Amino acid sequence: MTQLTRQDCERLDQDDPLAAFRQEFDLPENTIYLNGNSLGAMPKKALDQARQTVINEWGKDLIKSWNVHDWFSMPQRLGDRLAPLIGAEAGEVVVTDSTGINLFKVLSAALTVQQKACPDRKKIVMEGSNFPTDNYTAQGLIKLLGDQHEIVFAEGEDILQSIDDSVAVVCLTHVHYKSGRILDMEAITERTQACGALSIWDLCHSAGAMPVDLNGCNADFAVGCTYKYLNGGPGSPAFIFTAKRHQGKALQPLTGWWGHAAPFAFERDYTPADNISQMLSGTQPIVSLAMTEVGLDISARADLNLVRQKSQRLGDLFIRLLNERCAEYQFRVVSPADNELRGSQVAIAHEQGYAIMQAMIARGVIGDFRAPDTLRVGFSALYVSYADVYDAVETLRDIMKNSIWQQPEYNRRHAVT
Ligand SMILES: *Cc1c(COP(=O)(O)O)cnc(C)c1O
Repeated sequence: MTQLTRQDCERLDQDDPLAAFRQEFDLPENTIYLNGNSLGAMPKKALDQARQTVINEWGKDLIKSWNVHDWFSMPQRLGDRLAPLIGAEAGEVVVTDSTGINLFKVLSAALTVQQKACPDRKKIVMEGSNFPTDNYTAQGLIKLLGDQHEIVFAEGEDILQSIDDSVAVVCLTHVHYKSGRILDMEAITERTQACGALSIWDLCHSAGAMPVDLNGCNADFAVGCTYKYLNGGPGSPAFIFTAKRHQGKALQPLTGWWGHAAPFAFERDYTPADNISQMLSGTQPIVSLAMTEVGLDISARADLNLVRQKSQRLGDLFIRLLNERCAEYQFRVVSPADNELRGSQVAIAHEQGYAIMQAMIARGVIGDFRAPDTLRVGFSALYVSYADVYDAVETLRDIMKNSIWQQPEYNRRHAVT
């Protein structure tokens, strides 16, 4: 097989049906941004929207904005905008709070349902290698419950077998944050429900990166963030999906006034809303929600099948170029080679991973590092080009060939990796 050239990659960019989306993002000069899996890029419209929300709405209309600019219904409105991207219906999603807090809410809600239906079931199946906050949150909840609940950790292939009729809830992340491996949402949800358990899916690395079909899989609950592939901005609020059949029944315990059936009745006692609004707790960060809406608007216009197809091709291209151009430097591809089993990122391992990534970042190729040895590169199909991938691998090759990673400044650890 002949080696790929940069011209080959430029040709792929010319034929890319998503190429025009890159113009909607403000990316710095001389930067190849391969970290949209951690923090999405800034849409150009974000700045205009920030001005509108801060100067016109907050500044001029002050408290009237809750009505005149519809601030109060933003969690539901953005939820409805997001719903089609994850295979949900309008009225099944709200955008609110963080992923960790939302996971606390839906896991509590699911356990409460099960506590009534099958009080002897105490097991929660999770993946030990998942992004830690999910596991930490579950551990905190169990401690608070002070009863016999226990987390059963399983990994990848072993997850299906770990689900039986002693399990209350199965709580998993669809696309693994480190390896990018995709779990079979349909098969796992089916097995979960056949065993009488409830399913919770974390879509942090799926939402906006690929079509997800929550209702097609009959999922019970889901959470996910909007600051990764949905480009909602740093710390933008996350989302909660609750299937219609659970609404009004599966109740979350952070019973603040926004989740009340009549928030402005100011009653003494809590009465839960009988719809998705019960998943809310309190006043939301409106400026951040306004940024989130900008990101969602872009994703709503993009064909998710094309997004998925392009990100698979970008990942394949990266792996091929790594094999062709960096073969002698002992990188190990951690992500599945099969692009059907791989999300929108590629993880590669190297003993000197930290220093290599620091040297890459200094050259304007931005990926990240996950301990102990994993370099991650994410391919946000809306703004990463095929030529970017070529240039990124060329930069990596140069860093390895000239041992640039050995320089002391690349070996000092920062707080955020
Ligand atoms: C990014 C990510 C989170 C983020 O949680 P926050 O509450 O927003 O800090 C949670 N879970 C997974 C699987 C993630 O990838």
